Amino acid sequence: MPIFEYRCAACDEEFEYLVLKSSAAPVCPTCGSVRVEKLMSIPTVSSDQTRGRAKRDIRARNRALRKDHAHEEVKRIETHAKDHED
Ligand SMILES: [Zn+2]
Repeated sequence: MPIFEYRCAACDEEFEYLVLKSSAAPVCPTCGSVRVEKLMSIPTVSSDQTRGRAKRDIRARNRALRKDHAHEEVKRIETHAKDHED
């Protein structure tokens, strides 16, 4: 859900406003003015950070998986080699 940050032109109050299709225009919670300007969108920034973090998590998990997989592979090869020792 898009939450936007606004600044009131009348009193300089900055506030966050959840914008829905059915929402009325944002109104300053401090002075009630509708003369507000939209600032940078917060969720875009935070979701970029979340995406970055998620990517790092996935990379870390992939590394861990690869390590596990490599370990499994070594065990399998060792087992396989043992099978052929006799
Ligand atoms: Zn205001």
